[in-house]
Amino acid sequence: MSQLTGIAASNGIAIAKAYKLAIPDLSFDKKKVDDTSTEVERLTKALEISKSELEKIKEHARTSLGDEHAEIFSAHLLVLGDPELINPIKDKIESEQVNAEFALDETAQMFIDMFENMDNEYMRERAADIKDVTKRVMAHLLAVSFPNPALIDEEVIVIAEDLTPSDTAQLNKQFVQGFTTNIGGRTSHSAIMARSLEIPAVVGTKTITEQAKEGDILIVDGIDGDVIINPTEDEINEYQKKQENFEKQKQEWAKLKDEPTVSKDGTHVELVANIGTPNDVEGVINNGGEGVGLYRTEFLYMGKNELPTEDEQFEAYKSVLEQMGDKPVVVRTLDIGGDKELPYLELPEEMNPFLGYRAIRLCLERDDIFRTQLRALLRASTYGNLKIMFPMIATLDEFRQAKAILLEEKENLTNEGTEVSDSIEIGIMVEIPSTAVIARQFAKEVDFFSIGTNDLIQYTLAADRMNERVSYLYQPYHPAILNLVNNVIEAAHAEGKWAGMCGEMAGDSIAIPILLGLGLDEFSMSATSILPARTQIKDLSKEELASYKEQLLSMDTADEVEAFVREKTNQ
Ligand code: PEP
Ligand code: MG
Repeated sequence: MSQLTGIAASNGIAIAKAYKLAIPDLSFDKKKVDDTSTEVERLTKALEISKSELEKIKEHARTSLGDEHAEIFSAHLLVLGDPELINPIKDKIESEQVNAEFALDETAQMFIDMFENMDNEYMRERAADIKDVTKRVMAHLLAVSFPNPALIDEEVIVIAEDLTPSDTAQLNKQFVQGFTTNIGGRTSHSAIMARSLEIPAVVGTKTITEQAKEGDILIVDGIDGDVIINPTEDEINEYQKKQENFEKQKQEWAKLKDEPTVSKDGTHVELVANIGTPNDVEGVINNGGEGVGLYRTEFLYMGKNELPTEDEQFEAYKSVLEQMGDKPVVVRTLDIGGDKELPYLELPEEMNPFLGYRAIRLCLERDDIFRTQLRALLRASTYGNLKIMFPMIATLDEFRQAKAILLEEKENLTNEGTEVSDSIEIGIMVEIPSTAVIARQFAKEVDFFSIGTNDLIQYTLAADRMNERVSYLYQPYHPAILNLVNNVIEAAHAEGKWAGMCGEMAGDSIAIPILLGLGLDEFSMSATSILPARTQIKDLSKEELASYKEQLLSMDTADEVEAFVREKTNQ
């Protein structure tokens, strides 16, 4: 057995065999063949297997993730059935007497080059489809297994270098017991997805893909961040116990599911959830969420080949609002860039994507994309209690411009005779230090703040949230962060507005007492953190915690803050 330590990214314990998610080696040799009909047969067979796999994946994606995720596989199926691609491969095998691998690669490459050089965006997307499909067919020709996370049908723990949000979205949590990756941090998007899927995860192990083989037995301890490869009998027993205790604790927490969140001395705060898709709402309700504090809409734009239409978006927003009834739903407008890419937008590569062209910066320039989203949101606004917020606001001008576009689209819709709610609050994410520093000026114009500490911490301490080597600088309890957070809360309250937090810090058991003492009104976190947080808050006195405020804000280090909170709250 060997043990690795990474970052605990999603609670719980998983014990199962390893499933490696990696593109296999697809290299091959060009061969001359005499028997071309056998080669054509091999090709036909590989195409058939690929087709039936894709049909299954598409069906799976449709039922578990919705039509929009299934669409990408329809495009792949079209490629597989296209005689204009398939016939030239067969012709090449026959006329040049070459093996199927070579004919497939050469022909596909010719089409890929041709489509990639076209002006038309739709055609360029077809190049990406052909690339994807060719890999799958090639894997079957070479008889190497091709990873299909959506098709996993036995209990496994997925191991990978990293998981893209769309890989994560394909995981079926009935079978995938957990996952562990080489890279990533607690706030990387695969970690966030793991928490919304409620599967244990440990990220940032650096070497899990080297240390573990397919089929090895793994224990993933998402509570403490450990991964054990081929554990002993004793270790399995020990972790099964830990798993049972965790389940018992969950039952305790569940008793507070339908209770409001009230501190020992009677202060009510809102405990709401972060979601990525309408499917996550079920988890919010099951975990007693009092609303949605952050709906990350970028997942609607990911894992597909083109921008989602206004109607597609409208359906998603309406579904979330309807499911949440009269509870608040804060929807964040598109926050693409950083570690969330949209290949079909073909944005040039940047040296510092987290400091680059992303989120509101992109939306204000590509206002066609922005207006489509805003119209879909405004149309959905009559189905529930909608609040809209803009991400990555660095200047008041950005907020004013974004709000003006929103109001313009509202007016357009009203003129077209479409009903739009009149009580939509418009707020911003505070995740850039400049905004936290002049929160007072912003508070006069916004309806609310939601502090995005995942980014605020990385920008304040200049430490990339994805980079494990600088993760020691990722310090939520750093006095600089506490001062910025306090500044935002005070600024909001001075103008009679509310301040929430939707970064991971809001669900952290050391941060919660601090934030309660600073007067935070709304805590938005992974759905699974809500009940433990409610249980914790029930035993805290807000008044007592508020009395520590000046002391905490003037401390020297994060360690000092942490030690103080641990002592005062018996943690
Ligand atoms: C944040 O930055 O804290 C946040 C909630 O946004 P994201 O994690 O999506 O960047
Ligand atoms: Mg952010």
